[in-house]
Amino acid sequence: MDDFTSPKRILSARRLRPRKRLGQNFLVDPRFAARIAAETPDHAYVVEIGGGTGALTTALAERARRLDVLEIDRGLAAVLRDRFGDTSTIHIVEGDALEDDLALRLASEAPPRAICGNLPYSITTPLLERIIATAALWDCAILMVQREYARRMRARPGTPDYSSLSVFVQHFCAVEHLFDAGASGFYPAPRVASSVIKLRPHAHVNEGLADPALLLWLVRAAFAQRRKTLANSVAAQPGAPSNAILIAALQQSRLPGAIRGERLAHDDFVTLANALSAQGFRAPAR
Ligand code: SAM
Repeated sequence: MDDFTSPKRILSARRLRPRKRLGQNFLVDPRFAARIAAETPDHAYVVEIGGGTGALTTALAERARRLDVLEIDRGLAAVLRDRFGDTSTIHIVEGDALEDDLALRLASEAPPRAICGNLPYSITTPLLERIIATAALWDCAILMVQREYARRMRARPGTPDYSSLSVFVQHFCAVEHLFDAGASGFYPAPRVASSVIKLRPHAHVNEGLADPALLLWLVRAAFAQRRKTLANSVAAQPGAPSNAILIAALQQSRLPGAIRGERLAHDDFVTLANALSAQGFRAPAR
């Protein structure tokens, strides 16, 4: 009979070791998992990213009508199959969440839909980009990330944590901080603390925006060189508009020529992107 009571026992029974490269810091405090699960809608379809040894999976499964669990590590996918294989509502998917067709997965299920995960830290940004790309298909995403990262996601203009990540995430979603989790809640204990955030997609993303790709390009360009003014930081990027176009767009947006990117609120970025678009500027291909 397998002992699934702690990640440490689960791993040692199978001669597995936590793999740092895959961000394997497993939840040992069940209260964290329970709090994440409690935030999912009733009777939802849930995708869990990175099932690990199944601590969060157990809590999510108590509420979800169906749960798809993505796990890249072959040994852990086997643990999850052994642990949950008899539960018809839980489906273990062995593979890379960065390669998974999340949009198809979500679109194949009726709402409510949620995405959850204690994310592997080394790939938080590409995972978040993929999750946000499907925001129209879920009701909420409840994600455990590094505390610093969570701060940047919800930072306001003019604060040290405000960055292109803040504007990008807040363009698509409302960001709510749910709770913090200290390193002692994990095995092995990570070097950094974590936070859990909840994302809810905005209903009218891109409304009033002439060119969504231009907004995203502008935000990255504005923060690329934080110490410079927005105009100089943008001008230094490949494919940037000419100085004349930039200055005209800033004037049209009623923004000072020497303003820094960190001072612009989301709506200012929208106004400036629209002004650049009106000047005939198109975002360079990525
Ligand atoms: N959910 C478990 C928990 O909270 O205890 C595990 C969380 S652990 C921080 C991250 C998990 O994501 C690990 O199990 C790791 O193997 C898995 N993982 C890492 N990269 C992945 C990827 N590209 N696709 C799917 N899973 C991945």
